[in-house]
Amino acid sequence: VKANGKNQIMYYENIINEITNENYILLKELRYALERNEMTLNYQPQVDSRTSEIIGMEALLRWHHNGEQIPPDRFIPLAEESRLIIPIGEFVIDEALCFLRELQSKDIMVPVAINISVEQLKFELIYKQIKRSIERYAIDPKYIELEVTESVIITGREEAIAVIDKLIELGVRVSIDDFGMGYSSLSYLKRFKFHRIKLDRLFIKDFPEKDNGHIASLIIQLANSLEVEIVAEGIEKEVQKEFLLTRGCNFIQGYYYSKPLSKESCLEYIKKSLKI
Ligand code: C2E
Ligand code: CA
Ligand code: CA
Ligand code: CA
Repeated sequence: VKANGKNQIMYYENIINEITNENYILLKELRYALERNEMTLNYQPQVDSRTSEIIGMEALLRWHHNGEQIPPDRFIPLAEESRLIIPIGEFVIDEALCFLRELQSKDIMVPVAINISVEQLKFELIYKQIKRSIERYAIDPKYIELEVTESVIITGREEAIAVIDKLIELGVRVSIDDFGMGYSSLSYLKRFKFHRIKLDRLFIKDFPEKDNGHIASLIIQLANSLEVEIVAEGIEKEVQKEFLLTRGCNFIQGYYYSKPLSKESCLEYIKKSLKI
């Protein structure tokens, strides 16, 4: 092992260089993604499992690049590190609110959830953008839901916290994404009037084979006793949906009901679901 040590290190260095080089190329491309119209939003329905009616949808960003789909888990971190998330995030909000306005003009009142990175909350920009859109498009703010992760609230700087406060004051709803993913402190739950908790897929994906669902149950109980809505993410199987229903969670988002859809397909889904 000793004799190999130096080679090993060089090997890892090469891998690291390759990774950073790959990221570097991707980042360069990311800079042009918006102006090249390579980005679109998909919308994934959220469904009340008791009635099968749509109760909301989450906007999920897609990047089509050189005939490929680059997954958000791949490019969002790069966008965050490079601050490109500011213009990209602006695009996401604009697109999502445009769709919302389109729906509301047809009297279809379904909320849209938008993912927000902590970088976006460090400036008042997002507040101004959303306020302006609400006024210009005459959107009812309670149909706008912003998803932030626990880490944003816990490690978020004062600026971020202040912006969340102002957004809530505006009537916009704020939800906690990926709930349960690594922050043991729950004191922040008292700090804001949260609209929803999103139960991370981690707590249900292996149910029933390799997970007895106890943690999911506990989080649902927590949400119910705090009188905060809870949406379970990543539900793929009927047995998972049924289990959650018996535990008091009837808001479901997952492939079981629908994958993320194009705007047009989502509109069709909404019409079918609401029988209009
Ligand atoms: P997320 O916010 O936790 O979004 C849920 C992810 O779970 C989405 O992945 C969705 O497609 C996936 N999903 C939903 N149902 C199922 C299911 O039944 N099974 C499985 N296996 N997966 C399911 P996606 O679209 O790849 O997005 C990944 C992450 O990228 C998101 O996780 C979010 O953190 C981030 N992201 C996506 N769009 C945006 C955006 O516009 N802005 C920001 N800041 N982040 C975004
Ligand atoms: Ca989300
Ligand atoms: Ca999530
Ligand atoms: Ca996630």
